[in-house]
Amino acid sequence: MRIAVIDKKKCNSVSCGKVCYKYCPPVRGGKETIIFDKQGKATINESLCIGCGICAKKCPFEAITIVNLPEELNEGIIHQYCKNSFRLFKFPIPKKGKVVGILGQNGIGKTTAINILSGNLRPNLGNYEKKIEDKEVINFFKGTEAHEYFKNLLNNKVKISYKPQYVDLIPKQFHGKTMDLLKKIENNNDLILKKAKELGIENAIRRDLKELSGGELQRVAILASLLKEADIYFFDEPASYLDISQRIKIAKIIRSLIDDNKYVVVVEHDLMMLDYLTDLIHINYGKPGVFGVVSQPLNSRDGINAYIKGYITGENVRFRDYELKFEKYASLKIDENLKLLEWNDFEKKFANFVLNVKKGEIYQKEIVGVLGPNATGKTTFARILAGELKPTKGKIDSKIKISYKPQYITIESEETVMEYLQKLTKKFGTEKYELEIINPLMLRNLFNKKLKNLSGGELQRVAIAECLSKEADIYLLDEPSAHLDVEQRIRIAKTIRNFVKKRECAVLIIDHDLMVLDYLSDRVIVFYGLQGKSETKGPLETKEGMNFLFKNLEITFRRDSTTNRPRANKPGSVKDREQKKKGEFY
Ligand code: ADP
Ligand code: SF4
Repeated sequence: MRIAVIDKKKCNSVSCGKVCYKYCPPVRGGKETIIFDKQGKATINESLCIGCGICAKKCPFEAITIVNLPEELNEGIIHQYCKNSFRLFKFPIPKKGKVVGILGQNGIGKTTAINILSGNLRPNLGNYEKKIEDKEVINFFKGTEAHEYFKNLLNNKVKISYKPQYVDLIPKQFHGKTMDLLKKIENNNDLILKKAKELGIENAIRRDLKELSGGELQRVAILASLLKEADIYFFDEPASYLDISQRIKIAKIIRSLIDDNKYVVVVEHDLMMLDYLTDLIHINYGKPGVFGVVSQPLNSRDGINAYIKGYITGENVRFRDYELKFEKYASLKIDENLKLLEWNDFEKKFANFVLNVKKGEIYQKEIVGVLGPNATGKTTFARILAGELKPTKGKIDSKIKISYKPQYITIESEETVMEYLQKLTKKFGTEKYELEIINPLMLRNLFNKKLKNLSGGELQRVAIAECLSKEADIYLLDEPSAHLDVEQRIRIAKTIRNFVKKRECAVLIIDHDLMVLDYLSDRVIVFYGLQGKSETKGPLETKEGMNFLFKNLEITFRRDSTTNRPRANKPGSVKDREQKKKGEFY
């Protein structure tokens, strides 16, 4: 089976001279395989196309993708948006009493699948030109576990609760007190307060939505979904902006939802969280923006390991020709002569918060992971290093320049990505800039997109590029993994690693994806403490720092025997107790 996908936004036949049409062999032989609509956009007749791929190679805007797929997939087509567009094959199956995860790259069809499962999108089974009757959809799933689900869904018998991906948008959609928003869902105040307390946001719900941090907004959104009495609960990226112990706590709370009559479906890119949270995983593979295939359900451990390996044994499908490697680079040998910055103990006091920083130093060419729960002063520390804030006690002689990527990014501009980057740096257009920034962050594809139209993951990549484009001694990246898929997380990690190797600089990285931190950090600074009072330790060796942090948080991790990735132990399990006894938390 052949599929031709055309990105209509990129196709511009007025300025390319219709090269696809000129070179297409069937067209040259007199078959109208490619035609142009009134707007001058190409469309390809897939039944006449021979799949040679010449048009895709010739198109100067990279607007065309031609893929040859096995014929049997055609039987499993669930949805196609329109002619020459993305299509989704096969389907994730929610299971009563289980948490089912969907794991895959951005643009591979996870949201399409969730929209279908939640009744927001009617699956057309590939017939994008005609209306599909309920009966046809129900019949399509006959003999599968999804049959009963779709029968109930299309008869309006399924109550749905949905936690959206972009919690940063909530304050733009609702104004006013958080509690007022929650009361629209549940009018029992005591119940709201009880659940808010479990999630650690009992104070946040009394505040205005626009005053909340990303981590608080995430938990408010989760609380809102939990309060809804539903048959199926969807959680789209519940980990973003939460710290590691919050991730584990939320995973436990979501898991407590399940009973014999409820379905829970989760999309998540933090593999530690996904592993801890789900019972079963569907891998969603394919080519982003072109097609997506959903695998059979696998148990969580096997599913994640198969995803890392790029190979699903049971289905004999290789969907990636390389393995995702989270292995650490050889540990950096610190050169004492390359000290970039050192500081003695200092203190910073705010009205309700005090941070005690212990002495430390940072060297050129190292990546220091900044670890610790939310609200322990990590950003305050960075702002002091940058000279933006002064310590209350002690002082720091810092003449260094810091380039900073904040955690939440909003660039609401009419400018295109290319215009934005061009204005930002004179290096734009040089070979070095291409190699260091544009190619590894895959920005070329975004050049003509307006900043205000970028998805969360695209905006993240632009913001990382912006931070690394500035001249500085220390680059501080706050949660660069948010909204990126696993492949993109590895890519940005490699970009940062290569960047620091070539410059006389250091990188400080605040992130809560344990695999990203594990992979990137040469050393770590740990922030720890109780409400309103925190301290730092380090920089220390990564293993020692992680051990110290998790001892403080009372969480233990083991290594997966196949992939070496860190896996959180269930509290009270044999491994958890054994490791705690030995003091091996990480
Ligand atoms: P994911 O959730 O895995 O990131 P999506 O399901 O959002 O993936 O998108 C899969 C593909 O479907 C994307 O390439 C997107 O451009 C395309 N797509 C999504 N919605 C539409 C639509 N309404 N019309 C045409 N294409 C769409
Ligand atoms: Fe024509 Fe080949 Fe493109 Fe198909 S892939 S439309 S046959 S040029």
